[in-house]
Amino acid sequence: MLKCAAEIHSRNLFLKTVETDVSRCAEFCRLRVRLIAAVIFCVFLIFAGVYLHASPVESRTLGTATYRFERAILTDEELADLHGNVSAICGELAAGYGVNRALPLEVVIAHNADYFGRLTGNSRAAAVYDRDRRILYLQRTKALERSGNIDRVLRHEISHAIFDFARGAGGSQNGDLLLLEESYLEFRFPANYGAQQIVFPASYALLKKRFMSDGTAAKDRRLYALWGKHLAQSLGEQRIVDILCGRANAADFGAEYSLFIENNRKSLKQ
Ligand SMILES: [Zn+2]
Repeated sequence: MLKCAAEIHSRNLFLKTVETDVSRCAEFCRLRVRLIAAVIFCVFLIFAGVYLHASPVESRTLGTATYRFERAILTDEELADLHGNVSAICGELAAGYGVNRALPLEVVIAHNADYFGRLTGNSRAAAVYDRDRRILYLQRTKALERSGNIDRVLRHEISHAIFDFARGAGGSQNGDLLLLEESYLEFRFPANYGAQQIVFPASYALLKKRFMSDGTAAKDRRLYALWGKHLAQSLGEQRIVDILCGRANAADFGAEYSLFIENNRKSLKQ
């Protein structure tokens, strides 16, 4: 009995010892996990610091344009090329539109499509003019070149900037002018939208409603280009430019749209 009791006693001792070891081991494991997490976090902070330090946003002013981009993505020659292109297009278009003041253009160049998408909400476009911030966003020049129509893309977006600048604050909130501007520029400098089936809204009010809710959704670009073409032929391009620059009153777009639908009905029947 004594022996047995001693055995039980020693077994309890053993169990106690094991329990103590297990709980100490668990505590040590938790400590080790925390330590590893802290080390990983420190390494992350160091790399993030190095990354941010290695790729600061560079801001360069050339003429009346300011360019912002990561130091690593554009060489001095590439920036000079881009600026030569942008300033030549700005000068030519502004003169053509009769806008004689120099355009203070802010250009932000994104390093890839993801970042471009985060800035503009549209990762598929090569360039976007944001009229609220008055910034022209471009994807890095190589992506722009791959789009195959760098000249048309720049002319379309820079025209938005010139009309916005010419009208001044307030003129950019007018839905009729925004729709006219987009339609005229889709006609003059169309994007590559391929074959699209056009669904014509029944009235100008519905066209404007669609434009104001969807913006320049890719599916409607051909519709806007056709509407812009109709207005250019009916009103004349000079009148459209004068309206877009705030030098002439807007036309009766409702009556023009009825003509537009009538013409398209005729061409659909032929
Ligand atoms: Zn546009």
